[in-house]
Amino acid sequence: MQWLLAINRGYLTTFGYILCPLGAVKKMRILVVEDDSLVARGLKQGLSRVGYTVDLAGSAEAAEVSLQTEAFDLAVVDIGLPQADGLTLIHRLRARGSLLPILVLTARGSMEDTICGLDIGADDYMAKPFRLPELSARVRALIRRANSLADACLRHHGLTLDTGSHTATLDGQLLDLTNREWAILETLLMASPNVVSKDRLVQTLAGWDKDITPNAIEVHVSRLRAKLAEGHIEIRTVRGIGYRIDAPGN
Ligand code: CA
Repeated sequence: MQWLLAINRGYLTTFGYILCPLGAVKKMRILVVEDDSLVARGLKQGLSRVGYTVDLAGSAEAAEVSLQTEAFDLAVVDIGLPQADGLTLIHRLRARGSLLPILVLTARGSMEDTICGLDIGADDYMAKPFRLPELSARVRALIRRANSLADACLRHHGLTLDTGSHTATLDGQLLDLTNREWAILETLLMASPNVVSKDRLVQTLAGWDKDITPNAIEVHVSRLRAKLAEGHIEIRTVRGIGYRIDAPGN
């Protein structure tokens, strides 16, 4: 696959990482949904080489399992998949409120599919065959855009998380949070009112602590609850699933 050989490694090696608040470096994770194993392996190899962590799914169904259990920063989705196609997958994800950046891959000449993909919520598309450097550039742009959109305030009643300055306030008072508490709270607020699974939180914290366990999540959540109690903001346990942040009085 010639396009793989076209990678300029020196130019691209620093991509795939994002500098997180407080200086922690988190590796970006991409899900590639592609049933053609040769293309899938090529994408994995090429994107890994420029610094991303890449997981593969050979069908829409396998992709949904991965997306429900693990946290990703972007998905590359082929439209032509066995059983449910890529468009169906994107439609389902957006219907659930997912904001995951999605880059669609289409066969050459399938312009109708492409337009349809963008209409139902894909962020960008590329026609096959594509050159890996161009795909990398588009991936990078989408991730950058998603992160700059995320660089804003998350508000929930009296609670505000300013992701730009990395400060949290509760009823106007500064809230002292650890990195891990911040990450959990940010994930819960971004998903609200949906439930966030404990596994998803483990994945979220894995950027800081690769040995994080579900029990450790419980400890962090219990400390967060104590800190939020004065604002009457509750982190509810949804038995067997995970946690959800609730408004006062709900
Ligand atoms: Ca395909």
